Amino acid sequence: MRTFVSLVLTCLIVAVAPFTVFGKEASKDEDIYEQRMELYKKAEAVSLIPWYYFAAIDQYERNIRLVRRDLPKAKGALGIYVKPEIWAGPLNKNPNDTNPLTISQFGGLGMDGNGDGVADPTNDEDVIFSIARFLQSYGTDHEHLKIALWEYYQRSKTVDLILGKVKIYKKYGTLQLDNHAFPVPLRANYTYKDTWGDARGWGGRRMHEGTDIFADYGVPVRATCYGIIELKGWNKYGGWRIGIRDINNTYHYFAHLNGFAAGIEEGQVVEPGMVIGSVGSSGYGPPGTAGKFPPHLHYGMYKDNGYTEWSFDPYPHLKMWERMEKIKQRKQRDHK
Ligand SMILES: [Zn+2]
Repeated sequence: MRTFVSLVLTCLIVAVAPFTVFGKEASKDEDIYEQRMELYKKAEAVSLIPWYYFAAIDQYERNIRLVRRDLPKAKGALGIYVKPEIWAGPLNKNPNDTNPLTISQFGGLGMDGNGDGVADPTNDEDVIFSIARFLQSYGTDHEHLKIALWEYYQRSKTVDLILGKVKIYKKYGTLQLDNHAFPVPLRANYTYKDTWGDARGWGGRRMHEGTDIFADYGVPVRATCYGIIELKGWNKYGGWRIGIRDINNTYHYFAHLNGFAAGIEEGQVVEPGMVIGSVGSSGYGPPGTAGKFPPHLHYGMYKDNGYTEWSFDPYPHLKMWERMEKIKQRKQRDHK
C-alpha cells in the first residue's frame, strides 16, 4: 500500500512539476524580452538603425558568453560584452575608465547613454547606446552595417551569424522564438536511441556525432527551430543534407535525406515544424548514392563559441522537443 501511495505521489509530482516550471519561466522570460526590446527600440530611436540589428548582436553575444569561460557572465538584460580596452580606448592607461570625455579622447567605444555622466560598461543603456553610435558612424543601411560588424568582430563567420539573426527577427518581429519541433512528425513510425560517441566504420574511424532517427523513406523531415538554412547540398558521407543555424548560434545538421522540400534554399528563414525534406538513405558515395544502409535521419548539433565550432549530443534535446510537442498536442486536443 505504501509503495502504491508513494508511486501515485511521484506520478503526481512528475505530472504537475513541468507545468509549474513552465509557467514561472514563461512570465520571467516575457519580462526580460520586454526589457530587451525596450533597449533595442531606444537604440533604434537615437541611431535610426532598426531594432533587430541590436537584437541580433545581443543574442549572438549572449550565447557566446554562455559557452565561453573567459568572458564574465552577463548581469543585466543585455548579453553584449565590450572588452575593457575597447570600451576605454586601446591607448587609455586606465582600462576601467568611465569618464566619457577621456574615453572619447582615447578612441574608446564607451559612452554615457542614460545621462548620469558616467560611461559604465555594465550599464545596459550605456552599452546599447555606445554600440548604436559605433554602428551609426558607418551608416544606417544594411551594407554599411555589415562593414561595421566586420570591423568590430573581424570574423566573417560572426558577421554571418549575426546577419542571419537580423533576418529572423525582422521576419517575425518578436524576440520570443524559443519554440521547437521534433524533426519527424510524431504520428510517423520512428525509433531512435542515444548513440552519441559510438564508433562508426564508414569513411574511416570516426565518432558518431549525432542521433539516428530510423523511419521509412519519404517520412517528412521538419525544421526543429527558428533559423536560417546555412547549407544545402551533397556531401560524400551525409548525402543530401541541410544545415540550419538557430538564434542560439547552434547549427542543426540533417543528413541522408531522400530529397529536399520544394522551395527550400540557402539563406531562407525556417520555423519549427516546417518541412525541409524527407527521410532517405543517401550518402557514402558520389552524388546520388543511396541504399547503403537503412533509411534514417542523422541529426547533429554543433555550437559556435566565436572562435570555433564543436558537436554535442542532440539526444537530450530531441527527447525534450518530442515531449514538449506531445504536451502541446494534448493541450490542443483538450481544447477542441
Ligand atoms: Zn548518424
